[in-house]
Amino acid sequence: MIVVDTLRCLPRGAATSRRGRCASRQVRAAGERALFDVAAAAVVALTLATACVSARDATTTGARAEAGTTLGLAPPSRAVEDVAAEVVKRVNERDGAGVYALYGEGMRARFPEESTLRFVSDVADGVGRITSSEADASGEGEGTHYRLHGERADGRMEIAIGRDGRITLLQITIARKEPPVAKSTIPLVLPFRGQWFVDWGGGTPADNHHVGHGSQRHAADLVIRGADGKTHRGDGKTNADYLAYGADVLAVADGTVTTVVDGVPENVPGAMNPDAVAGNYVTIRHADSLYSFYAHLQPGKMHVQVGTTVKAGTAIGLCGNSGNSSEPHMHFQLQDGPRSQDSWGVEAVFTGVLVTRGGKGQRMKEYTLLRGDLVGEPSEAKR
Ligand SMILES: [Zn+2]
Repeated sequence: MIVVDTLRCLPRGAATSRRGRCASRQVRAAGERALFDVAAAAVVALTLATACVSARDATTTGARAEAGTTLGLAPPSRAVEDVAAEVVKRVNERDGAGVYALYGEGMRARFPEESTLRFVSDVADGVGRITSSEADASGEGEGTHYRLHGERADGRMEIAIGRDGRITLLQITIARKEPPVAKSTIPLVLPFRGQWFVDWGGGTPADNHHVGHGSQRHAADLVIRGADGKTHRGDGKTNADYLAYGADVLAVADGTVTTVVDGVPENVPGAMNPDAVAGNYVTIRHADSLYSFYAHLQPGKMHVQVGTTVKAGTAIGLCGNSGNSSEPHMHFQLQDGPRSQDSWGVEAVFTGVLVTRGGKGQRMKEYTLLRGDLVGEPSEAKR
């Protein structure tokens, strides 16, 4: 099976639908068209932070529509296939500045040259040298699609140009061969105290909206629900209304902190931040090929820094609502490398935890976070 690790980003000002806790399925641009899969964008943010890899110039449609009509307007000054070939050539040369030079004004405004340099270098790292490409008529969307064949991986490119021949839309997606899901092999403790609800978790798309995205294959979104089943008190309009908000986020095993991202402001519930999808997050190394990752934390409240040694159960930060998160919750995952963008998700196996499923509690010898379960000790849940 091939998964697609999408390296792309969202137009600024894009509003998101509220489906999902941390990555909704669709985004609407300022106009009205559903554009991108936010879950895919999550990968970018988890990985590239600010390196936006694609963009849509809001003028794309207009420019293309004009070009395509018979209003007597001049045809595009260049053919899109020429520009696509030029992009491929410049990616192979790792010439980010050269790619940036092909952008139209809107693209330049949205995606500065330094982002483009990182983007081109990430693509070149991901696919290796692109040895051939061909048009792909099956692609959806407004741009022209190409299949890219690289020395290390294959990819896809969507590109559109304006009447001036400059790029108004560019997306490059890298496909990777997916290895089987590994399971954690060291003892783990739950990343929280008390009893939490698994809002998304498991190994199937029905249980877990994360599964299509490399490092998030077994990621989980965790919340606390009250007796009424709601995740908040009152009207839920402020983060403090949420039962999970401010809860300690705990290291699941002994390890050393490898990444701390802090300073991403929190969202008002319902609003999301696709520009920094993971929000504030911490990554901890536990063993070779075993790292844990905790996202959407509160800014300015980290208990650890890079290099901090932690024990299983050490509080590392506070549950918050930063990044592409619709309400305060904890996003937790294990992955096989320090950086999400080039890691594969690892299934976290907990032992001896109390799981309430279908109203019935049982202590599980081996447990994987699964959607719909209540996990942990209810006696400690009172906060
Ligand atoms: Zn999540």
